Amino acid sequence: KKKIAVMTSGGDAPGMNPAVRAVVRAGIYLGCDVFAVYEGYTGLVTGGDLLKKMSWGDVRGFLSYGGTNIGTARCMEFRKREGRLMGAYNMISNGIDALIVCGGDGSLTGADLFRAEWPSLLDELIETGRLTKSQVAPHRNLTIVGLVGSIDNDMAMTDATIGAYSALERISEMVDYIDATASSHSRAFVVEVMGRHCGWLGLMAGLSTGADFIFIPERPPKHGKWQEDLKHVCSKHRAKGRRKTTVIVAEGAIDDQLQPITSDEVKKVLVELGLDTRITTLGHVQRGGTAVAYDRLLSTLQGVEAVKAVLDLTPEDPSPMIGILENRIVRRPLVEAVALTKSVADAIESKDFDKAMSLRDTNFAE
Ligand code: ATP
Repeated sequence: KKKIAVMTSGGDAPGMNPAVRAVVRAGIYLGCDVFAVYEGYTGLVTGGDLLKKMSWGDVRGFLSYGGTNIGTARCMEFRKREGRLMGAYNMISNGIDALIVCGGDGSLTGADLFRAEWPSLLDELIETGRLTKSQVAPHRNLTIVGLVGSIDNDMAMTDATIGAYSALERISEMVDYIDATASSHSRAFVVEVMGRHCGWLGLMAGLSTGADFIFIPERPPKHGKWQEDLKHVCSKHRAKGRRKTTVIVAEGAIDDQLQPITSDEVKKVLVELGLDTRITTLGHVQRGGTAVAYDRLLSTLQGVEAVKAVLDLTPEDPSPMIGILENRIVRRPLVEAVALTKSVADAIESKDFDKAMSLRDTNFAE
């Protein structure tokens, strides 16, 4: 019987629970034993109670829970070979040789590294007497499948990451709330949103709520000039009768000299314009709450696909990442997706912003 482990890792995202539910149930349906690894890679390194065989009923209700019920963590030990050695030991001890990881690019990079090292980790476990040759023999190959769980929608080779639309929904709702009080008092609000180095949440929230101005890292304004543009646009909107001003600042916002654009700086400019201005940093409410229907569907379809991939893959196949492209659930090479994701960050760092925009393969690039 194939034994599969599923874990959530890195920052939590709505939809991770539905993903775990789908993997557990699709796995059982297709005749596998499915284990949940609790607390991300910490569970793999620690083993014991943090590696639990799941039954059909263990994931009951998971579709409508936010966050991740099996926990997530940032695990320093797994970054070291010794930690990964313990991970391999705990997996083999339980007869597991397939791992489905739902996390961001860091988690998926770690998973792929684990797979690359797997044969040498097993040799070391035999040499040091921790496992016997016969225990290891049936598990010579590790299968890794990635599910992208991240509110940032920052991964290449997929149109949407699990959690992004839920966070976008939450942000849009919050901006609506803010807009109501802003128009009542004729105020300006600077709303800071998450997204790390990716402007997807900021841009999409701005479009969804009709913000006056949006700052994102991939399309930075000219150094020292954005203040004038901001004033020009906001006063033009006010002149047309708008009673509120809303500026969305992505947390990674920069100018074209890579200098951060902070909410405080933006506020200062709006105050200079004579506007009574407040800052609202939305913070962790953006990642809380239940997943929107889109994320529940995405994670369910992708979770099932991940299990199918585990059962289909040969040792020669590269580890896949399950994505969605043009509304189809697809498999793409995990390593290539991670490399392409990194190339966006590199393009920004080398100030090639057109390249950064074109590499973001959601249609906002145009
Ligand atoms: P998010 O996008 O939400 O930050 P992430 O998966 O990118 O999610 P990271 O903190 O980068 O978050 O990674 C999560 C965990 O994955 C790390 O704490 C570590 O245990 C493991 N990991 C990340 N990068 C590596 C790596 N290069 N080698 C081994 N393990 C890694």
